[in-house]
Amino acid sequence: MKVAKFGGSSLASATQIKKVANIVNADPERRIVVVSAPGKRSKDDVKVTDLLIACAEHYLTFKEAKDELERIIERFRLITEELELDSKTLEEITQDLNKRLYETDTSNRDRFLDVMKSAGEDNCARVVSSYLQKLGVKARYMNPKEAGLIVSDEPGNARILPESYETLAKLRDYEEILVFPGFFGYSKEGEIVTFSRGGSDITGSIVAAAVKADLYENFTDVDSVYVANPNIIDQPKEIKELTYREMRELSYAGFSVFHDEALIPAFRAGIPVCIKNTNNPLAKGTMIVAERKENNDNPVVGIASDKGFCSIYVSKYLMNREVGFGRRLLQILEEDGVSYEHLPSGIDDISVIMREDQLNEEIEQRVVEHIKQILKVDHIDVQHGLALIMVVGEGMSKTVGMAHRVTKALADAFVNIEMINQGSSEVSMMFGVKEQDVDRAVQAIYKEFFN
Ligand code: ASP
Repeated sequence: MKVAKFGGSSLASATQIKKVANIVNADPERRIVVVSAPGKRSKDDVKVTDLLIACAEHYLTFKEAKDELERIIERFRLITEELELDSKTLEEITQDLNKRLYETDTSNRDRFLDVMKSAGEDNCARVVSSYLQKLGVKARYMNPKEAGLIVSDEPGNARILPESYETLAKLRDYEEILVFPGFFGYSKEGEIVTFSRGGSDITGSIVAAAVKADLYENFTDVDSVYVANPNIIDQPKEIKELTYREMRELSYAGFSVFHDEALIPAFRAGIPVCIKNTNNPLAKGTMIVAERKENNDNPVVGIASDKGFCSIYVSKYLMNREVGFGRRLLQILEEDGVSYEHLPSGIDDISVIMREDQLNEEIEQRVVEHIKQILKVDHIDVQHGLALIMVVGEGMSKTVGMAHRVTKALADAFVNIEMINQGSSEVSMMFGVKEQDVDRAVQAIYKEFFN
């Protein structure tokens, strides 16, 4: 059996939902369908999830959000009318949205936001299931609570609780095609909690793992995963097959086709993932597997880049001899709730790389002061506006000459490398450059390995 997850662009309009139904009906193995909320219909459109967030925030500030709510209902009205669904469907959606907005306790802001945010996927699942039923398909909406998708109680950032898998496994036994809303589960206390943004991919992966699917299909709006970001490289090559580890590294550094946390459940259960295009379902897509079958001579499968990093560089003579230096440095960050991403180090120096959103002016000042006082460092410097580039390929770090090829390409493009991290990961090499250089850097590396 297959679990098929459809992203927001695949559900943005009635036309798209019809394509989804065709895809589901084309293969009897597609038994569970996981859906996102309706996404953008065009470049300037707004996702239903963003409309829901705006509505909730407006309500929190002004204690009313009539127009904001109407915009959301309007999106569903267009869809249900064009699908020629019974008017009851829209009435139920309207009732549900009103209930969430006006009858939820707003004293806990994050919890209220999660109740509102999850309405997109939840109602979309009802629409898709009604539409399939209208076509004569035996389909059924499945609520995550009924299915037993229990998550940690971290609003906006839930994690699956391991005991969920056993209950979710029973989804295999249903006769009907199940339409399952992505993006949220329930805490042990029965509260709605969402995953981080883009989290419907995570739901799909969890469900696929729980029912031991033969394949987890992730339908989106591109024919495949590309070797590099198409906004940076004109018509980059397609990737036919890549390993879980490679995909994890690529999605960490900006490959947004697949949520980086979504790989883990499928990977642990050994379920292959296929990224496919709703608008071109016959294209083969990209397979994500444990081991690549294809013999690829190129040691590099992809190049990813992501902006929005900064670093705290610290140096102190004889740092290498000072027991506990690293621990105390990280403790200072921990005390301010700052999480770090990478930690390249030298004999007397260490850099802590983190996402820009971890620091604000106040935290930065405090952390710098603490480091100076507690660690008595010789030098400290905070650098903003960094971008990271990941050059990814299984076994790459064991291939002779890789670092040379990348650094030469960057030197030829006059890009200064701020940081290199090679060898910590078996599947990638990481380069830090200034944000303004990053696109040029990716183009240079692409040319070296793919032209
Ligand atoms: N609709 C949610 C979001 O926009 C989750 C998802 O689409 O995966 O983040």
